[in-house]
This record gives sequence, C-alpha cells and structure tokens, in this order.
Amino acid sequence: MEKLEFRHTLKSREECGCGYPHDRSLEAVFIGSLEEVVPRFNDLGLEAPYAIFYDEITYRVAGRRVEELLGAKGFLVTAPTFRNAEELAAKVRGVESIVGVGGGTVIDVAKYAAYKVGASFVSIPTAPSHDGIVSPIVSLFEEYGRKSILMRSPRLAVIDLEVIKSAPRKLVISGYGDVLAKIVSIKDWQLGREDVGEAYCPTAERLVLESLEILTGSIARSEGPEESLTPLIRALINCGVAMMITGSSRPASGSEHLISHYLDMKLGRKYPHGVQCAIGTLLMAAYHEMRNPNWWTEERYRLKMIREYFRRVGLPLSLDDIGLPRSLIINAIIEAWRIRPDRYTILHKYRPRTEDAKLILKESGLE
Ligand SMILES: [Zn+2]
Ligand SMILES: [Zn+2]
Repeated sequence: MEKLEFRHTLKSREECGCGYPHDRSLEAVFIGSLEEVVPRFNDLGLEAPYAIFYDEITYRVAGRRVEELLGAKGFLVTAPTFRNAEELAAKVRGVESIVGVGGGTVIDVAKYAAYKVGASFVSIPTAPSHDGIVSPIVSLFEEYGRKSILMRSPRLAVIDLEVIKSAPRKLVISGYGDVLAKIVSIKDWQLGREDVGEAYCPTAERLVLESLEILTGSIARSEGPEESLTPLIRALINCGVAMMITGSSRPASGSEHLISHYLDMKLGRKYPHGVQCAIGTLLMAAYHEMRNPNWWTEERYRLKMIREYFRRVGLPLSLDDIGLPRSLIINAIIEAWRIRPDRYTILHKYRPRTEDAKLILKESGLE
C-alpha cells in the first residue's frame, strides 16, 4: 500500500501568496486494495455512521465490497442530475461519512450530498476517466444542461488498482483526454493573467505541469495498459489538487473544456467527458498556435505531438472517427465562449467568426 500525503505537503495561502484560498481538505490518497484501506477508516478519523453511494455497475465492481467492509447502508445513484443528488442528500441526513464508489457521476453526486449534509467525503474511483476524483467541483445536469459548482474536495481517496484495471477502455481514454486538455487550459489561464490581470497560482501551475510531464512521459515510453494506470491516476489526482487549492476549475479547464460544454449542451451525454475535451484540445491548440505568441515552444506540447499522443492512446484524430458533424463543431468554435463569458480564454480574446472557425478546424487536422 502506498500513501500520498497532501494536507501537510501543500503550501498554505500565505506561503504561496497567490490570492487563491489554498484549501487543503484532501489529507491523503491511498493506493492499495479496498480490503487493506477501508477497514481503517475509523482510525483515519472517518466516523460512523457511513453511507455508501454507487450505481448498478459500480455496486458489482466495488460498491458491494465497500458496503460489506464497513457494514454500512448503500444508496443507488440513478441519474447525473442535481435533482438525484438532492434526493439522496435528503436520505442521508445525520450520516457522518459518505463514500462515493464509482465514475464521475457517482463521485459528484456523493460529493454534493456530503457537502450538503456536512459529512466527510471519501472518493473511491472505479475508472480513471476524469479529474474530479479529488477536485472540489461537482458537474451535473440541471434542467437546461450541465452546470459546475464549487463544493469541497474529499478528505481521502482510495485507489484500488485491481478495480481500476477493470474499467472499460473508453473510460481510460477519457482520462487521457482530460489530462492532455491541460496543455491548452494552462495557456488560457496565462492569457487571463497577462491580458486581464487574473490571479495565477504557481503551486497549482506546478501540479498541472507535473501531471502533463507524468502522462506524456508514460505515453512516450509506450507503457502497456497496466503500467500506465498509475501515471494516469497520479496525473488526474494532481489536476484535482490544483483545483482544490485554487477553489476553481481554472487551472484545469480552458477553451477546450468550453467546446466540450457546448457539445454537452447540444448532445447531452453522448461521449465521455475527456473525449469531448480532447476534440476541444486539438481545435484550441490549433487556435493558440495561430494567434498566441505565448503558446508552447517546446515540441512536446505542440499540436503535432498532441496528435501523436492521441494516436498512441486511441483518442479521436478526426471528426469521422467519432461521427461528429462538421457544422456542430463550427458552431461550437464560434459560440462556446458565451457559455462562460467571464472565463477569459483564446476564444474570448479573439472571438472566432465563421471563416476563422473553418480555418481552426482545418489546422487542427480533425477534418
Ligand atoms: Zn475535465
Ligand atoms: Zn497559490
């Protein structure tokens, strides 16, 4: 079993001096079997009564074991919606600790309920598909589409690699997409710093850059499906920690995520989050390369290499690969900035018109 310490290794707000809150709710991440870690929850300061959240699939994969190990009551997450999260929160009043066992939806619903009832939250991911594992952000659907809100990071996360190993490949690929997206999001954040004087946290930046180094290093070494899981998980956790200390998705979500949000709006949950972000990453990397003199000069983060990483891990390289209509993407490029007018990115700096959008699509190689 391996223990990654966070609370005592991260800089405080005063030490960093960046202006962000530097929340340090996350104490540690354990990488080990559920049987090793879960029975120690009480010793780790997580008090009973517990409530376990899972969906039908993650119940079979790991939820049932966690339920048995804790001797606690389980709750079924049925929809990726705020309404479902509210209903479950109402059922767990008085619970001291909530354990979310699952993918993005279950983790976010459990995170939401724990925040609402003031319980401690433990995150047990069953797939390396997104960077919400330890982030304080909850992203669920309301009536008019997806919405992200700030809640609190978990106190603990438990990564059982045997569980993660059984995740479907398309969810693993999504995790790659969500991390590689940071090649763009960090440059959009820097635009905010330079053009509109936005606060910038060097601690969060270092965590995100470390994520990129860990993951692109693993891809470059052509690591197999098993040995590449730990680097992927570590990269996703680092990104979540960066969001925790800034209390914002800013370090991990730029123009490429806006493209994904636009697709959510138009298509619902058609593709995994990280796959949509990957499409956004190719488009926005192309746009930055066209217009931003501060874009990466290092070969390893330029569009050509991003496409090579995508090829190696199986992320889409063309619209035909996943069946996205060209007109939808053109509209996404033109309209996506409106989803968050206040989050400054390359799309806000140079609002693309139809001709620009066509050129961006062409340059991205997606066409
Ligand atoms: Zn994301
Ligand atoms: Zn800072």
